[in-house]
Amino acid sequence: MQIADRLSVISESITLAVQAQANALKKQGVDVIGFGAGEPDFDTPIPIKEAAIEALRAGKTKYEPTAGTLEARTAIADKLRRYNALEYPPDQIIISVGGKHSLYLALMATLNPGDEVIIPAPYWVSYPEMVKLAGGVPVFVRGDPSNDFKITPQQLADALTPATRMFIINSPSNPGGHTYHPQELLALAEVIQKHPHITVCSDEIYERLLFNGQRSCSWGAINWDLWKDRTITCNCLSKTYAMTGWRIGYTAGPKPLIAAMNKLQSQMTSNITSFCMPAIVNALSDPANEKAVENMRLAFEGRGEHMWRRLNAINGITCVRPSGAFYCFASVRGLLNRPLGAAAVVCHDAVEFSRQLLAQVHVAVVPGNDFGFDDHVRLSYATSKSQIDKGLDRIQAFVNGEAPRRSLESPS
Ligand code: PMP
Ligand code: GLU
Repeated sequence: MQIADRLSVISESITLAVQAQANALKKQGVDVIGFGAGEPDFDTPIPIKEAAIEALRAGKTKYEPTAGTLEARTAIADKLRRYNALEYPPDQIIISVGGKHSLYLALMATLNPGDEVIIPAPYWVSYPEMVKLAGGVPVFVRGDPSNDFKITPQQLADALTPATRMFIINSPSNPGGHTYHPQELLALAEVIQKHPHITVCSDEIYERLLFNGQRSCSWGAINWDLWKDRTITCNCLSKTYAMTGWRIGYTAGPKPLIAAMNKLQSQMTSNITSFCMPAIVNALSDPANEKAVENMRLAFEGRGEHMWRRLNAINGITCVRPSGAFYCFASVRGLLNRPLGAAAVVCHDAVEFSRQLLAQVHVAVVPGNDFGFDDHVRLSYATSKSQIDKGLDRIQAFVNGEAPRRSLESPS
């Protein structure tokens, strides 16, 4: 059967592939430590679940408006005003099937063939692929680990060409774990504000997972009057409320953009699952959920600090201190091109390193290649502290060529 040419330019999501690989091994009875998953290990707060169950019981099982119910969009508009200082009315919001779908529709609705999109590296694996599917051209700007992977205004300025149409910013970031401070966002904004044809797509899905007392800053809030017509604000419920499987994302933006996304979505998926709409209202407005969100955030902060310290204590690994999200993005450059482990294997890049780590000591990490760094690996700390310790013992043992302190077979 013929497969469309458009698929030849993209690859499968490595993050989902690693997760599937680790799960398949677990099913075979292998004691795998999974640092691959980009999803909270907590359950969705009960009031949110109850809202969906109640909606099902009440018969909310029919088509809804493509963009989502007015109640759900109003709850999102209220949240954006209250938490982000963004003034989007409900008719400037569209709810889609997860943050991924929101971003994809936004890019499909705005890019023309050949349009250049500036993507700071390291980047979430799906950005370049989505840009390519939409006919655009990804242009990478490499953040330096010495600057916590953050790009500088000069780097952004140097990447601009007459074909630049969009800048994607993700803060807090997957996989870098870094966060731009408001002053740093302002400095980047000053570079592109003189170029009115450039739109900013701000992926704010990790906004609530911030450490050290920081508070997130939405791109649009840097200067609402200046940016309200040039900003696409994407978010979802997946990470904040531990709702990855629910598939709820949303986009807020200028009216013509939301209308275009509506048109596209009406021909693709229609509305999201109808009985999830009241769950959105509950998630964003029931104060009971705030405690759960804060507890998860605190847990991630403690685990992130712990994993970061342990990673840096391993000879050959260096890691930038995470300030948000739930990932450590560690350099394994010092471990490449030399014999490693009891089997004295030699790895030339992060893909080989990750493969060997899984094969020899059953630890799943995501190679950095598809995040733009082929000598880094991503470790998610959305898992228990005991799993983190066990996994890091194994990595240490693999690197040193010793037997792990905790046996490979011991239950977690
Ligand atoms: N943006 C980033 C940076 C992500 O890490 C993810 C994780 N999947 C998404 C968007 C998409 O989120 P969702 O699971 O809601 O599709
Ligand atoms: N965002 C998560 C990750 O990066 C989920 C997987 C995906 O959608 O890519 O691992």
